[in-house]
Amino acid sequence: GEYGHRLQPAGRDEMAQLAQEFNRLTDRLQTTEEVRRRFVSDASHELKTPLASIRLLTDSILQNQQMDQETLRDFVKDIGDEAERLTRITEHLLALTRLDSLPAGKTDRVDTGAVLERAVNMLLPVADAAGVTIRTSVKPECNIRCTQDDLYQICYNLVENAVKYNYPQGSVSASVTRDGEQVLIEVSDTGIGIPEEDLPKVFNRFYRVDKARSRAAGGTGLGLSIVRDTVRRHGGWVTARARPGGGSLFTVGFPLDRGELEAPEGEAEKG
Ligand code: ADP
Repeated sequence: GEYGHRLQPAGRDEMAQLAQEFNRLTDRLQTTEEVRRRFVSDASHELKTPLASIRLLTDSILQNQQMDQETLRDFVKDIGDEAERLTRITEHLLALTRLDSLPAGKTDRVDTGAVLERAVNMLLPVADAAGVTIRTSVKPECNIRCTQDDLYQICYNLVENAVKYNYPQGSVSASVTRDGEQVLIEVSDTGIGIPEEDLPKVFNRFYRVDKARSRAAGGTGLGLSIVRDTVRRHGGWVTARARPGGGSLFTVGFPLDRGELEAPEGEAEKG
């Protein structure tokens, strides 16, 4: 590849150590380059699919002169759906690029429970339409250092998935608790669950267990990778597990912000 230069370590001296270090760095660069290339190629593929559908639909409309009004409307609606899909994919891609390139920005002391409740409220109509009930339970004073937007996005993506990959009459349980010096966000559902072997992969970009289901639900395959990148950016972690009794359980952990430890003099309220 582009980073193919390798040095032959000649002995046990400093030069040999340097050569080894150089080779290690070369390997790392190569991996990063491969990841980047893979991302671009996956992203192009994801964008091509809805574009191809739009082409097909417009061609059908243009070629069929005496298409009845109802079929025409259906086709146009499908075109609209595909356009919406393109919008979602580009929004998600932009979110990931921002995460890659921009510094975390000014963080605040954020009440995790309040943000989770806001995300749940926003998703209640979606849950209603799917016949899914959401239970929320949040402890007070679970503050973390984050931005409101980032924490909202994390909560929203997890709860949205818990609704999307659920059954009618199913339920979602979303909670915020404290565990020592950590704040835990748990989102569990009684839905279709994730096979054991897929659990470690669901945070990868564009990974879906069931492509058709994700697509039908308007998925982009990027929601969980945005969650993981955002969580890490603020010093947290996230795991996916099978929920005992069926369904999935996602847990996010953040360092608790106790608040007594305010920013040092002169550092506060800048920017
Ligand atoms: P998508 O846009 O496809 O939902 P995500 O990155 O949010 O992409 O999730 C990746 C995949 O992980 C989904 O396609 C789905 O297969 C699986 N998944 C995510 N959340 C859940 C859940 N709560 N229950 C079952 N499967 C899930």
